[in-house]
Amino acid sequence: MSLYNKYRPNTFGEVVSHDVNMTAIKDQLISNRFSHSYIMAGQRGTGKTTTSKLFSRYIVCESPEQGEPCNECDSCKAAKSGAHPDVIEIDGASNNSVADVRNLLDEIKYPPIRASRKIYIIDEVHMLSVSAFNALLTTLEEPPAYVIFIFATTELHKIPATIRSRCQIFTFSQIEADDIANRLRYVAQCENINLEESGARLIAQNSEGSMRDALSILEQLSHNQLVDEKVVVNALGLIDESHTLSLVEFMFEHDVKSTMEMYQGIIKLGKTTNQLIESMIHHLTSSILKGERVKDCSQMLKSLIGFKREVSKEKNIQLLFNLFIVEQCSEITHVDDAEIANTVSLLSKKVIEIEKFVKTSSAAGKRSDAVKESITQAEYPKKQEIQKANSEHQITEEVKSSKGNDVNTEAKNEYSGISKDASKQDYSPKIQSILSKLERFQKA
Ligand SMILES: [Zn+2]
Repeated sequence: MSLYNKYRPNTFGEVVSHDVNMTAIKDQLISNRFSHSYIMAGQRGTGKTTTSKLFSRYIVCESPEQGEPCNECDSCKAAKSGAHPDVIEIDGASNNSVADVRNLLDEIKYPPIRASRKIYIIDEVHMLSVSAFNALLTTLEEPPAYVIFIFATTELHKIPATIRSRCQIFTFSQIEADDIANRLRYVAQCENINLEESGARLIAQNSEGSMRDALSILEQLSHNQLVDEKVVVNALGLIDESHTLSLVEFMFEHDVKSTMEMYQGIIKLGKTTNQLIESMIHHLTSSILKGERVKDCSQMLKSLIGFKREVSKEKNIQLLFNLFIVEQCSEITHVDDAEIANTVSLLSKKVIEIEKFVKTSSAAGKRSDAVKESITQAEYPKKQEIQKANSEHQITEEVKSSKGNDVNTEAKNEYSGISKDASKQDYSPKIQSILSKLERFQKA
């Protein structure tokens, strides 16, 4: 049995991070004033199914206490093991047709066997077909008095409004990292897993608010003698926080060379640029929250999020990130270092290579059209300038072809072409803006 199932809460009181929901549910159960249909909505691993199971267990329990199932009686045990005839759990994903729902509705006609009520828990209910929902709707409008429906879903918006309006909805938000870490420590203690505080914290931070994900990570790592930060970093392919910290510090120190070396080092360790970006976002955000270098961190965070939004799916992300580094370092310093200027020059050449790549890629055609649409006066060179640059470029091209493969002309084109290239519309918006900045950077 997985740790998640083994340590599934047995009482509403054990369900973490959702006190408001649990109190409301318990109040309804204690006062015996509950609804006929509920929706438990929220992302995976946040406690929807657990709550549904506890609810049904309470309903069938022979001696419930203060809003909690006793977990001792035969009915509780049967419900817990999935053997209670009046607690019916259905996977909506695999039983989503109208025929499946009709079968279910036929069955609903028969009263409960052991308990006073029959509880239907339908998981992933948003997977039902439209006609299946319609079939369900008539029963939801006038359900038999002994029936309770509990629908669980990760995608509430996919459930028709007609269904939603007939249900009481409980929303389960992501579980707080602190709550996950506490639970991890508790489970580790019970299971004799040597989990260090730093390890628990890191697993919690990387579980996206899902207890199921967190416990499954702990389970995977449980064979280690000690589960510490290092073990978690390796297992999850995370970026060492100290590396991210150094990279950001180098950027703040305007040290292009060290930043790039650090970046290349991280890539050589098998990490991706997108992972680094996530790690930087996390680091910058927590620095801001701690009140450290708030202005610098906010500025970099803003740029980084913009960069992520625009280029996270680009094939050339490594090269673009190099340009981002130059851009960031140049924005916060005066440039007079020959070495930096040299780096910029090298990168500029690479940008020309990107241009060739972009032109030959068929997907780029579509992107280029999108770029044209998105070009605004504020962000890009004025139209006349673009036209001027284009005509200049054309002239150079003509000169070049008339003189054949003149090396000097080619070199001249390559180095002086940056400004013209920057105003060309073929680039993706990000390359365009970086090129413009590179140009200013070189002139400085
Ligand atoms: Zn019981």
